[in-house]
Amino acid sequence: MAEVIKCITFIIKLIFIIFLIQTKSSAIEIIRDTELEQFTNDLLSTLLNSSNIQSNELNVYFINSDQINAFVTGGKNIFINTETIIEANDYREYAAVLAHELAHIKAGHVFSTSLEVSNLSNKALPIYLLGIIGIMTGSSEAGLAGVMVGQASVNDSFMYYSRTQEASADQAAVRILCNNGIDGKYLISFLEKLKTLEGTKLANKQNYRSTHPLTDNRITWINSSLKNYGKCDHKDDKNLKKKFELLKAKLHGYTHPFSETESVYNNDDEIGLYANAVSNYLQGKHNKSIQNLELLIDKDPSNPFYYELIGEIYFLKNDYERASTYQKKAIDEIKSVNDLYLMIIGNYLLSFNEDSKTKKGIDYLKKSIQINGQNSYSWYLLARGYAQINQISLANYATAERYYLIGEKSLSYDFANKALKNIEKNTPEWYRSTDLIQILKKEVSTKRQ
Ligand SMILES: [Zn+2]
Repeated sequence: MAEVIKCITFIIKLIFIIFLIQTKSSAIEIIRDTELEQFTNDLLSTLLNSSNIQSNELNVYFINSDQINAFVTGGKNIFINTETIIEANDYREYAAVLAHELAHIKAGHVFSTSLEVSNLSNKALPIYLLGIIGIMTGSSEAGLAGVMVGQASVNDSFMYYSRTQEASADQAAVRILCNNGIDGKYLISFLEKLKTLEGTKLANKQNYRSTHPLTDNRITWINSSLKNYGKCDHKDDKNLKKKFELLKAKLHGYTHPFSETESVYNNDDEIGLYANAVSNYLQGKHNKSIQNLELLIDKDPSNPFYYELIGEIYFLKNDYERASTYQKKAIDEIKSVNDLYLMIIGNYLLSFNEDSKTKKGIDYLKKSIQINGQNSYSWYLLARGYAQINQISLANYATAERYYLIGEKSLSYDFANKALKNIEKNTPEWYRSTDLIQILKKEVSTKRQ
């Protein structure tokens, strides 16, 4: 008996160790959110004005983390922790952080251990939706949780630039900010902020301070380049300021405890209503959240993100009619529609399980994939839609694509073969299934021998 207990204890210990290793290697949780992506993209476009880099050449990843950090890997991948945005006092501080990272990219700075980072870069990362609960309801199949798969991978301990590169990135950041209408002193105010947070939020070593040199040194050299620069005291942009406050409020609601959001955002202005709409939603207080969002829509009927969230809540309440109506409004109001918005409405329409609505949903999902073919959840939904209207070979094809994206090559190969049996010849899906089989044939057959 004692032996058995020892053995069980050993197994439990072993499981615990494996769990620790696993959580360590997947410690990074990457999230997607339309409001977050579009706001950041707007800032980046401003900062890249008169630059030879376009904002769509960059891959921006957001890490759900309570640590402040931002860094660049593998050329044009920028990583930003959500807490960096939450702690920024002003959109210009966030712009300053982005400008610094852009400066590294523009100068082609490479980490001293770039080899190790590039070795890791083939490991795919799952990417989740911010506020994952809504969309994922009912799908328990393993590996489905990710919206898409990221190609870049990171390991915090590897990342640092040389002091000289940091100094030159700060100087270049000042230039980028001043040339594009943003006051460069916000880079300093952000660093001052980091100093005040020392020892509290920055206690963890995987943060901004572990990837960047000492704050005091930086403030000194930034001050001197600001002096050299001359006129940089640009006025703020009221519109960006408001959008940033709303974005921060939402991120706070999603990533901080309910009670904290409630005490930080205790006003019933738009910012407060939005933060509390999110935190009430996460608490399951759906009606309170809907109430806030209705007030917000009254105040600003052109904000797509209010419609998106209220739609998500109705979806959770199984009110697919309202969910899709609101998401449609969000699509009408958004500046440029992205794969996520089309994926979401596709999902809502499939949920009716009525053929005519399923077909509409399929159209939206195909558009979502046209915009971003890497969105594996759109492929999953597309397969579900085809299955609902008995187009089984097309469902098999969409499943083959999804497995291909998430690296399940053997399964992808099998589904592409299944699809090819009944799929109409010379259609795009037929060609693509044939291609997948060709691409995977060698690898899968060597593995199976
Ligand atoms: Zn840096």
